[in-house]
Amino acid sequence: MHTPSDEARPSIYYNYKVHQPWLASQHGSQPRHKVVIVGSGPAGMVTALELARHGIPSVVVTADLQVSQGSRAIVFTRRSMEILQQVGVADRMTDNGLPWRFGNSYYRGQHVFRMEAPHDPDDRFFPMLNIQQQYMEEYLLDACEAQPLVEVRWGNKLTSLTQHDGHVTAEIDTPEGPYTLETRWLVAADGGRSSIRSMMGLQMEGASYEGFFVIADIRIDLPLPTERLAYFDPEWNRGNTILMHREPHGIWRVDYQLPKGESPEEALRPESLKARIDAQLAMIGFAGKTWEMDWCSVYSARTLTLPDYVQGRVLFTGDAAHLLPIFGVRGANTAFQDAQSLAWHLAFVLKGLAGPKLLANHSAERVGAAREIIHEAGKSTRFMAPPEGGFALLRDAVLSLSLSQPFVRPLYHWRTSRPHAYTHSMLNSPGDDNRLFTAGPAHGAPPQNIRLAPNDFLLDHLGGGFDLLYFTQAPAMPEALMAVVNRARARGIPLKVLAVGAAQAVAGADLTLADADGHFRQRYGVPASGAGYLLRPDQHVCARWLTLDATRLQAALDMALPQ
Ligand SMILES: Cc1cc2nc3c(=O)[nH]c(=O)nc-3n(C[C@H](O)[C@H](O)[C@H](O)COP(=O)(O)OP(=O)(O)OC[C@H]3O[C@@H](n4cnc5c(N)ncnc54)[C@H](O)[C@@H]3O)c2cc1C
Repeated sequence: MHTPSDEARPSIYYNYKVHQPWLASQHGSQPRHKVVIVGSGPAGMVTALELARHGIPSVVVTADLQVSQGSRAIVFTRRSMEILQQVGVADRMTDNGLPWRFGNSYYRGQHVFRMEAPHDPDDRFFPMLNIQQQYMEEYLLDACEAQPLVEVRWGNKLTSLTQHDGHVTAEIDTPEGPYTLETRWLVAADGGRSSIRSMMGLQMEGASYEGFFVIADIRIDLPLPTERLAYFDPEWNRGNTILMHREPHGIWRVDYQLPKGESPEEALRPESLKARIDAQLAMIGFAGKTWEMDWCSVYSARTLTLPDYVQGRVLFTGDAAHLLPIFGVRGANTAFQDAQSLAWHLAFVLKGLAGPKLLANHSAERVGAAREIIHEAGKSTRFMAPPEGGFALLRDAVLSLSLSQPFVRPLYHWRTSRPHAYTHSMLNSPGDDNRLFTAGPAHGAPPQNIRLAPNDFLLDHLGGGFDLLYFTQAPAMPEALMAVVNRARARGIPLKVLAVGAAQAVAGADLTLADADGHFRQRYGVPASGAGYLLRPDQHVCARWLTLDATRLQAALDMALPQ
């Protein structure tokens, strides 16, 4: 019998809510579900909310009775915020989070590099926003509870599963004992230690790095701005690295590398934590300042991924699919992109708008993204915590040279999580004009946001399906183009038409966006009327044309929805 703790987790700033377990005896017989999602972390909840946006109901089963322990992911990127905007929680994140865009690196006490993350006037969100993962999960949970197509079952732990032709059966254990669930698709969003991955005997590929880091969240009043602080080879932790981040509610994260050979158990002893945090505070000029511990943990860096996220009718996503180092804020930020991708691909297959090839595409695209991240994060990891030999030698050479040679300082640049461009996606339209454009988002890229008015942006207006941006100053959309649009809609394909550039509403378009100063056209590299962009339901570009006609639009839609 599964007996999750019903005691609220300890925290000095966050009040954990303990939810009631979902018990089968209090509900009627169980139908075969379309989608069951295992896990209510960021990957599970965003998948559920995105599926609901596409009209697909899901059941989320989750082992615990409360949101996750400790702050865990605290830094969220602009692209994550754009995805969270789609599922309705971005405002709560920005209202309660701390935006930032600067980072400072110190070597042996000397300031050697100031990083500035670009912030374009066309962007709605800051490059980074700090807020603890519990708050983010709480906002997602509230959105799930307000969404009739999502059912969250607390205290429901998957203990086994069997795949059949066309469906999966899962044994779910609860505080009153087990019951069986049947589902057409099962989403494994059960985190880094995924028991589903183990049950299915799946192996991840990649590397695990030596060395441990301690994460400690402390409450302290430090008069410092919200900027990322990195200390290399500091006097109290020779040869190692320390990071600091400000979090909401007067909390600071101190993240330090352990000397070689020290075990996590030793490092988490209260005396050891206190000595090191006091030493760090003294080094940055706050010796003797009082602080209080909220949560601490130890982690090591891993760069691992499953080679395929579609395993029959079981679909892996988030940390269950890959394990990424947190340098560069990869974990949760990647999970959002995974979830957004999985949801639209799965929804379109479930609705019969595309064949199973579309799910294969999801896996190929997201495994490609994980491999790119692993490549980048591997570089960050080898810089932050170099393994022995050549890597340590090179890192130390960069660090010491940086004291006298400004040209090496940009090597400190922190490679941050960024959205993957699906440049080689099989959904991209081969017969379009992608290569003829000299600006604007290319094949597979996420869209470039555009500020339309002080508080009005392009991404606020994209729909839940495909979006056609058509650049025109004519009073009406071309009839032949609209015939293709209407045929697609009649098949059930959600397709929104946004006319860009006309002062008056363009007949046939769902929305007209004026572009009096030509700024939109310039950002999208559009020289003249008649050009267009087709965005997929995850907003990535799958086709763009300098001259769009009905045949080309039809070809692009056929390409993007393989049968
Ligand atoms: C110490 C630490 C610091 C981090 N810092 C950052 C950071 O700064 N930035 C960043 O982007 N990421 C960070 N991460 C990573 C981030 O927390 C994870 O990448 C993110 O939570 C992954 O989301 P997920 O939904 O895939 O998995 P999880 O959040 O782990 O969720 C898994 C869910 O599955 C449930 N579950 C597990 N097994 C079962 C089962 N058998 N049956 C039912 N339910 C089950 C769990 O209860 C949980 O709800 C950090 C992680 C840690 C541990």
